[in-house]
Amino acid sequence: MADKFDFDLFVIGGGSGGVRAARMAAGTGARVAIVEEYRYGGTCVIRGCVPKKLFSYAAHYHEDFEDAAGFGWTVEGARFDWRRFMANKNAEIERLEGIYQRLLEDAGVEIRRGHARLMDAHRVEVDARAFSAETILIATGGHPVFPPGHGWEFSISSNEVFELDTLPERAVVYGGGYIAVEFASIFNALGARVTEVYRGAQILRGFDDDVRNTLAGELVKKGIDLRVETTIDHIEKTAAGLALRLSDGEVLETDLVLAATGRRPNTGNLGLDTAGVEVNERGAVKVDAYSRTTQPNIYALGDVTDRMALTPVAIAEAMAFVDTVYRGNPRSMDHGDVPSAVFGQPPVATVGLSEHEAREAYAAVDVYRSTFRPLRHTLTGRDELSMMKLIVARASQKVVGAHMVGADAPEIIQGMAVAIKAGATKQVFDATVGIHPTAAEEFVTMREPLPEPDAKAAE
Ligand code: NDP
Repeated sequence: MADKFDFDLFVIGGGSGGVRAARMAAGTGARVAIVEEYRYGGTCVIRGCVPKKLFSYAAHYHEDFEDAAGFGWTVEGARFDWRRFMANKNAEIERLEGIYQRLLEDAGVEIRRGHARLMDAHRVEVDARAFSAETILIATGGHPVFPPGHGWEFSISSNEVFELDTLPERAVVYGGGYIAVEFASIFNALGARVTEVYRGAQILRGFDDDVRNTLAGELVKKGIDLRVETTIDHIEKTAAGLALRLSDGEVLETDLVLAATGRRPNTGNLGLDTAGVEVNERGAVKVDAYSRTTQPNIYALGDVTDRMALTPVAIAEAMAFVDTVYRGNPRSMDHGDVPSAVFGQPPVATVGLSEHEAREAYAAVDVYRSTFRPLRHTLTGRDELSMMKLIVARASQKVVGAHMVGADAPEIIQGMAVAIKAGATKQVFDATVGIHPTAAEEFVTMREPLPEPDAKAAE
């Protein structure tokens, strides 16, 4: 039956989700082809999570060298060489890209390059050549978008930020989400003068308010000029760089503007209409819980579906797709309690509900919060605070949210995510012995809930 087609599965997009699906499906004996128009590895490996984390490490050394003094070290002549770092980073990304392709080859997947377009429900055209497949998977990812207005052609997006020839002396980051916070932190820590401009009242909309406020305070302490409730209305090129007109009338001069104003699914010129694949009001491919599109033999997963734009989510969706279609075990991915991190300096990590969300979802919640100066900074003298917070549904005593701002937050919250996924109660947290001395132990030693907001107001 399958021989009616050139392939059992044709995957469009060689990012985290597409590559995982192709490899795993091929592992079940399916005949699989994959096509990618840019570089194998996709956003995460080529111009996202991985290089971003390398930038973040590079940037953190600046503080580390300063902090070393408190521990008796003298670090002389420390200098940052942008070109050397970029060359090392590029070599590592090329290595990973090679690994992705090798994994596909080893799994027996046919690797193609070029732009793919659906011709109908079973046929794909790649650069004027047609292929047929029983099942097609769309995993084309997303792309950064610029805000409307004048002068944005002088700005860059997160695509270009990884290829800059030099570190700017002055940088303006526009936005208050993941990418804006991460790159404001990176540029600032590397020594640029950074202004972060955000249209809303506080950065990281959707995160817990204590996380947002703590992080904003720390970013400002580290020297980022944070302008909230402000927009960039106009950008102009000048002899000295770029001039930005802000909504409050101020004109800011800078060398670089990074627009970190969100991403959209890659659905352009894919032939979705022709194949009967519908998109939703946000322009994302419409899918059901099994990642099936409105055309029953065509599936979609990852950023192009705009469910949760996170690499591990795309990979988990891919695993569920392979189980469903190739392993006779139909299952949907559970998008609940997905942890995530913002690799700012300091970093943020979170899992489950914010206090605000929990108060809407439950009749009563207990909130535990601890704000402290990490032990390390008793000798460095650095005025950096960490904040941890647990949200507990009072009736069941289940921990429904864990949030942290501070060093190692992403490493710590990953473990908390296991506990929350397992449905741990506050009593399980209390019965867990801490590891001393760590910051993480704070999560199992918080005993006194905060006063109820009403009680606070009445004081
Ligand atoms: P986000 O959606 O996180 O943030 C976009 C920001 O831009 C928001 O602050 C938004 O404001 C603002 N914005 C949007 N449109 C406009 C506009 N027209 N004018 C002014 N401001 C605007 O997107 P990012 O681009 O930072 O990242 C995209 C996604 O990629 C993330 O949501 C995340 O899923 C993923 N990602 C994950 C990372 C990680 O896991 N560490 C790292 C980087 C990205 P408002 O809040 O008011 O809407």
